[in-house]
Amino acid sequence: MVNPEAGAPPAPYDILFEPVAIGPLVTRNRFFQVPHCNGMGYRDPSAQAAMRKVKAEGGWAVVCTEQVEIHPTSDITPFIELRIWDDEDLPSLARIAEAIHEGGALAGIELAHNGLNAPNLYSREIPLGPHHLPVATYGYHPVQARMMSKQDIADLRRWHRNAVARSMTAGYDLVYVYAGHSFGGIEYFLSPRFNQRADEYGGSARNRMRLLRELLEDTLEVADGRLAVACRISVEEGLAGTGISRGHIEEILGELGELPDLWDFVRGSWDADSMTSRFGPEGEQERYVAGLKQLTSKPVVGVGRFTSPDLMVRQVKSGILDLIGAARPSIADPFLPEKIRTGSLETIRECIGCNVCVSGDFTMSPIRCTQNPSMGEEFRRGWHPERIRVRGTDSRILVVGSGPAGLEAARALGVRGYDVVLAEAGRDLGGRVAGESGLPGLASWVRVLDYRQQAIETMPNVEVYRESRMSADDIVGFEFRHIAVATGATWRRDGVARWHAQPIPVDAGADVLTPDDLIGGLRPRGPRVVVYDDDHYYMGGVVAELLRSEGFEVEIVTPAAQASAWTVNTMEVDKVQRRLLLAGVALRTSAALTAVGAGKVTVANVYTGQLSEAAADSVVMVTARLPEEDLSRQLLARREQDQIASVRAIGDAWAPGTIAAAVWSGRRYAEEFDAELPGNDVVPFRREVTQLHADPA
Ligand code: ADP
Ligand code: SF4
Repeated sequence: MVNPEAGAPPAPYDILFEPVAIGPLVTRNRFFQVPHCNGMGYRDPSAQAAMRKVKAEGGWAVVCTEQVEIHPTSDITPFIELRIWDDEDLPSLARIAEAIHEGGALAGIELAHNGLNAPNLYSREIPLGPHHLPVATYGYHPVQARMMSKQDIADLRRWHRNAVARSMTAGYDLVYVYAGHSFGGIEYFLSPRFNQRADEYGGSARNRMRLLRELLEDTLEVADGRLAVACRISVEEGLAGTGISRGHIEEILGELGELPDLWDFVRGSWDADSMTSRFGPEGEQERYVAGLKQLTSKPVVGVGRFTSPDLMVRQVKSGILDLIGAARPSIADPFLPEKIRTGSLETIRECIGCNVCVSGDFTMSPIRCTQNPSMGEEFRRGWHPERIRVRGTDSRILVVGSGPAGLEAARALGVRGYDVVLAEAGRDLGGRVAGESGLPGLASWVRVLDYRQQAIETMPNVEVYRESRMSADDIVGFEFRHIAVATGATWRRDGVARWHAQPIPVDAGADVLTPDDLIGGLRPRGPRVVVYDDDHYYMGGVVAELLRSEGFEVEIVTPAAQASAWTVNTMEVDKVQRRLLLAGVALRTSAALTAVGAGKVTVANVYTGQLSEAAADSVVMVTARLPEEDLSRQLLARREQDQIASVRAIGDAWAPGTIAAAVWSGRRYAEEFDAELPGNDVVPFRREVTQLHADPA
């Protein structure tokens, strides 16, 4: 836990607590929560306010909103972001700014006109771009943008000025001009790939940056020294060398470097900037950002999934960044700055780089985080990342199983002050996290275990018993009265998942493995392996990668159109295909396994039903999982007879899901233990319901 009484920050990190001047503002330190989406936006403004406030409390000097659409021609439905279309949006925006101030931080707002990135599915306005082009969105929407006329450009400038004025009214301290991530529409004017205009807004570099210059000047004029003005810009677009590159950004800084009060450098599209740990290390952006600060006298912020204070210090000392930007590290640990300031480094909950947070935005649901189960629950359930209600009884609680659910339940109950016994059948703690973090690219996931194990070790009220497989008799014999059963789940080997609800025929001599087998060290019998992926998250791709790296000939068979199809929501799906193809993994998509024979499998095309065969010495089934529910069932059956007060299965033992879901389930157990719950007919959280318009006609 953070010690708020701690004095000066520890010496090596004191540089991180120096103030930085940003135009008219002075920050309290160098920690800057850059704008990030959260799947709450205009639908859940109070939830967002509470979430941002917690970050402000956690020590971030500046806390920003996500991109805020400035006009109905910038409507990125189906994504749910904030809007500043007119004064009707101001109460929500003001509530967020107030909450950030209450938490002790400066409030930033990222104004966005998404231009070519806005399909306008809600507003039905025609999108505006530098040229006549289909919209550049994550979906193949059948929508084309119109080339902006001079009048459109004048309109855009006016809308932006209005949004700046409204931001001031709503109480913000810092306002963004957004030309980054292929979201901020100005980027399409800067990019030689998209800007093919022949007028003064296209052609030469100076012409392509004209719109950015105008919007910056407009913003500074309206801000009039009362707001700081930041520019968030893509420093590298990739796009096979046709987009913004180093030379372009150097030219822009040469021309406009002194205009804004702050530069916020990002990488090209969002998926390049918010790279998962599977595809890029901490500080990966450094090679794109290094050297740019030297082209401006204005402060510079940038991100890098920074969780290591040493790396943060190096960013500042080596002149790469002035402010340590963070989205994901601030989600995983809103109190990261305070923990560094107070020297409580061992309590930092490090982001694992899984992008489950991003999946909230992609699925239009409130943000969630694998490491921080309170993320998104601050308003609706009253959860806090560091504080939790003190215990209400003297009960002693047994938690069976030390996977993510059991660990989080034990940790959070321990923080509440309960006496907890955590019993684990194996020698090592961590359950699935311990096993999965040994798979290719998933090493950082072990932080889910590390954070909790470290926390539990400091708690005298939490006892851990390893190599202690608990039976119902043991539990009754030891007189435990409250039991959380976190015994996990096992992968099926009979083909049942989404495509098949019934087991498929499997030849008695066939070699069928599951991810559990591979994690346990088993390997296929022969060289030709089919990985059947009807799970669609990371596991199919990861085990294919593992086996290929060990020399097996691997073919993925999946009913979806891509391997690991759900990773579109973590912005990894393209990278997964690329890695698999480059590694020599064959992909057989839109195909369902229908039978496993000896030495071969039968596969049906999901559209035509046509059957084909594939040679396979072994099959790895990445399909559904089954909860390990025997223990909870037995205990429930003995409740009365053995005076068991409560039994609850949590995490994968209740229903198999993500690691994030298991952690959340453990936290929920700890939060709700001894709470008087109103029963499940009642919505179990607070929500905001759309206000009806006064005039129904
Ligand atoms: P979750 O994701 O729900 O936390 P995991 O599968 O990661 O579940 O972890 C379950 C853990 O429970 C494993 O470490 C497993 O060894 C342990 N376990 C399963 N059954 C028992 C039992 N009867 N007694 C003690 N530990 C158990
Ligand atoms: Fe980091 Fe994953 Fe949490 Fe996102 S969900 S902040 S990537 S741990």
